[in-house]
Amino acid sequence: MEPYVIIGTGVAGIAAAQAIRQHHPQAAIVLIGDEPDGYYSRPGLAYYLTRELPEQGLFPLRDRALSYLKLQIVHGRVVRIDAAGHRIELADGKSMKYHRLLIATGASAARLDLPGVDLQGVVKLDNLADARRIAKLARKARSAVVIGGGITALEIVEGLVARGVKTHYFLRGDRYWANVLDEQESRIIEHRLQEEGVQIHYRTEASQIEGKRGRVQAVITKDGARIKCQIVAIAVGIRPRTQLAVSLGLNVDRGILVSENLQTSAPDIFAAGDVAQVFDPATGRYNIDSLWDPARQQGFIAGLNMAGLPTVYRKDMPFNVTRLAGLTTTIIGTVGRGVDEDLMGIARGDSETWRQLPDAIVAQRGFDVNQLRILIGEKRLLGAIVMGDQTLSKPLQDMISAKANIAPIRNALLYAQSDLPEILLDFWGQWRSEYATQQS
Ligand SMILES: Cc1cc2nc3c(=O)[nH]c(=O)nc-3n(C[C@H](O)[C@H](O)[C@H](O)COP(=O)(O)OP(=O)(O)OC[C@H]3O[C@@H](n4cnc5c(N)ncnc54)[C@H](O)[C@@H]3O)c2cc1C
Repeated sequence: MEPYVIIGTGVAGIAAAQAIRQHHPQAAIVLIGDEPDGYYSRPGLAYYLTRELPEQGLFPLRDRALSYLKLQIVHGRVVRIDAAGHRIELADGKSMKYHRLLIATGASAARLDLPGVDLQGVVKLDNLADARRIAKLARKARSAVVIGGGITALEIVEGLVARGVKTHYFLRGDRYWANVLDEQESRIIEHRLQEEGVQIHYRTEASQIEGKRGRVQAVITKDGARIKCQIVAIAVGIRPRTQLAVSLGLNVDRGILVSENLQTSAPDIFAAGDVAQVFDPATGRYNIDSLWDPARQQGFIAGLNMAGLPTVYRKDMPFNVTRLAGLTTTIIGTVGRGVDEDLMGIARGDSETWRQLPDAIVAQRGFDVNQLRILIGEKRLLGAIVMGDQTLSKPLQDMISAKANIAPIRNALLYAQSDLPEILLDFWGQWRSEYATQQS
């Protein structure tokens, strides 16, 4: 039999290889990737930039764990897929047949079409090579401009601040990450950044990057201001890498459209992770998640289907624990408002499900940096954001994903003077034991 071929050495590709190997101990599995660093944690790049994590800490699998999977790893770039011939072609001219193929090519940072964007010192944050470049530039830079909303822009801001670079942060809109956070939450993050010395420029867009001898010298804004800097970082959203699928004629929207089985519109070709736009039977929509855990789960399910075990991908409630301006933040379920003018499409660490406008009432409590927002539906909790103290993060994740019936506490949650954390924790304790009894 021809080998299983996986394009992409990210978390989706590795998870697919693990699933195939579980069921076919002897099958040939080829993993092709164009990144010299192979498989590592992309979310970890933020901690590498702030110097909290050494480079070795980014690699979740040791060589021994990878060798256990008995993969044939090919370093190269796939440039063409011939679906009829079941064959892929690499940039170096080599080609290879496949039995079943997975496209797990991820996404790359969206480009801004600005004069000067190709100057030395203009950076993005897609991969480890980019993070190393930022770290190197930060050694000599005095000031930087960061453009874009979302998690990645903030991670670059924090990395630069930690490395002693005076940082200007451009937001096109009025506040930070407006499609996911509410105003109070955005302001908490912004104040913390300002306390760190970050200068936030609201309603500000770059019109040009000025250079001298090929290097960045300043950014000119649309209002005509000139900000001297040696680094310009751009993080305005991501684009799924769909080129292979487009030239093959697969069904592609913003990502590669796949069924619940992660199957593309061509036989024997699957797609998973950041590149895939996955059918969700619950809503009838195709969604993009640019999150680590959904990418891993999708990769695994794609691998099972490739191995001949028909398996449906059931989307978990999108859940992410991240750190925003030093503040641990958990985002669960639907919490957002749909649009964000700072981002072109979706950002890294973002889920389209967060942005679907829920038919919900909001209850909120906050003091200092401990902030809680829950979205309350007719009978269940639809989403939540927990900032700071994380005691409620697990209980809320449990109750939101199990669609717990909150009728007994709904009125209390809506009552303005209620102690939300206490009500939720009490109810969770009760609900958990009833739920466990029902499940057993
Ligand atoms: C800075 C940063 C911060 C993030 N923060 C978070 C976070 O807080 N929480 C969270 O859940 N997620 C976060 N993410 C997102 C998360 O890392 C991604 O969702 C996940 O890595 C996607 O995995 P993937 O396997 O689909 O794609 P990727 O990890 O992008 O892997 C795809 C691989 O395929 C390779 N490739 C592409 N085209 C070809 C080709 N033609 N031939 C050969 N190889 C090819 C690419 O070079 C790449 O190595 C973050 C990502 C970044 C970069």
